[in-house]
Amino acid sequence: MNTKQKITIAKGDGIGPEIMDATLKILIEAGAQIETEEIEVGEKVYLSGNTSGISNESWDIIRKNKIFLKAPITTPQGGGYKSLNVTTRKFLGLYSNVRPCSSFHPFVKTKHPLMDIIIIRENEEDLYAGIEHQQTDEVVQCLKLISRPGCEKIIRYAFEFARQQKRKKVTCFTKDNIMKQTDGLFHQVFNEISKEYPEIENEHWIIDIGAAKMADTPEAFDVIVMPNLYGDVLSDVAAQIAGSVGLAGSANIGEECAMFEAIHGSAPRRAGQNLANPSGLLQGAIMMLNHIGQTSIAENIQNAWLKTIEDGIHTYDIYKEGKSRIKVGTQEFADAVIKNLGLVPKTLKAANFSSDYVMQLPKYQRKEAKTKKLEGVDLFVHWRGTDPIEMSHLISQINSDQIQLSMITNRGIKVWPDGFKETFCTDHWRCRFKSKSEFTKSNILELLQKAEANGIDVIKTENLYIIDGKQAYSLGQGQ
Ligand code: NAD
Repeated sequence: MNTKQKITIAKGDGIGPEIMDATLKILIEAGAQIETEEIEVGEKVYLSGNTSGISNESWDIIRKNKIFLKAPITTPQGGGYKSLNVTTRKFLGLYSNVRPCSSFHPFVKTKHPLMDIIIIRENEEDLYAGIEHQQTDEVVQCLKLISRPGCEKIIRYAFEFARQQKRKKVTCFTKDNIMKQTDGLFHQVFNEISKEYPEIENEHWIIDIGAAKMADTPEAFDVIVMPNLYGDVLSDVAAQIAGSVGLAGSANIGEECAMFEAIHGSAPRRAGQNLANPSGLLQGAIMMLNHIGQTSIAENIQNAWLKTIEDGIHTYDIYKEGKSRIKVGTQEFADAVIKNLGLVPKTLKAANFSSDYVMQLPKYQRKEAKTKKLEGVDLFVHWRGTDPIEMSHLISQINSDQIQLSMITNRGIKVWPDGFKETFCTDHWRCRFKSKSEFTKSNILELLQKAEANGIDVIKTENLYIIDGKQAYSLGQGQ
């Protein structure tokens, strides 16, 4: 009977093929019950004229096998090539990116000997929605989208993960003092879901001071959950201060599929020289084995790997005179891990992966519809003048008895009424219209028609809503 789990692999570019071969050799020697199916992704596919870096046949294989172990790929610069990593995460709904960052003191140089944190990064939304537009000669825009399902899924994942891994605390990082709607929702959902996990401590930090604290005193944190962009930046910082980006792996988890990888890139300058450290991809592969239930094999490999690090058998990136014993290449490192299979580290804490707690993640249920009342509109206007008072005269031409201009901002700061002459203005003006009584979508159409008739260049509109009785848009800065 064949009980082997079929997995898709891609050897990628640069150092990818070397570290994939080394990783697979260790997995097979450790008795991992896997059967691999290889696909080609990355540079060659991009340069053959496919801007997505992957063929439709390869997508079919990934979706059939559901588990994907991917080596880093090179995204060619320029030429409109789309990042395959971002596309894969979003196409397959891999909403959770898990990045453990631990130090291996005293065997790998670090300023933070006690560091042992897990960064859980939201993987599908935020500024990575990739919705960007040039709006005026001077202003471009990127939409930051944060959704309730996105927040609920990732925050519940973080708490379930903490429970499974017997972690004590989940910290949330956001910038909700500034982004009250988007980061505010992430923080609010964190507060709601944390109540369901009373045995796990929870706290929230504003991202700037939280990041500073993490870089200075990482041992103060345990599991940290955050929106996509912050998680992208801070997980690299965390991996680097733990010892090296070359040591960290990452899991991208969805409801149906999962992808496992190293956090580093394809390091093209190191390619083909048997130099690269395969540890990052191996750590990704160990997470993969845990994910598919091959926990004891994962544990055996992790302990052999810890023992190898402890033995001072190091690739160039972590080799330090006085700390390391032997400088080895990719293949020799893999052979050393294989030799250590069945052994456990003496000083470093041995891995003990428990499979007794199965994470229970309910599917997101759409909530009851909220009441939504339109109470105005923001018209965004391209105008090449610089004086807000002149702008207010121009735009007030489209006022009616009912619907009146109430505020103008430029890059978010109020410039009319009562603006400061010191405020710098671009050619991108937001003009807020409100009604003395009822406001309807027809009022927006009338405003647009009048603007068109008066030669005012409206480049977009945003509706202003009261949702469930609460104002659901931000005020102008300084308002
Ligand atoms: P990189 O992570 O590839 O390399 C930065 C430096 O880190 C290298 O020069 C090397 O000194 C070191 N390094 C990285 N991994 C190492 C390893 N395993 N062993 C030893 N040293 C290692 O970052 P980069 O140079 O900015 O990017 C190179 C390419 O990788 C780019 O095309 C980029 O788009 C791509 N990239 C891919 C992924 C991915 O596929 N997940 C992630 C990041 C970058």
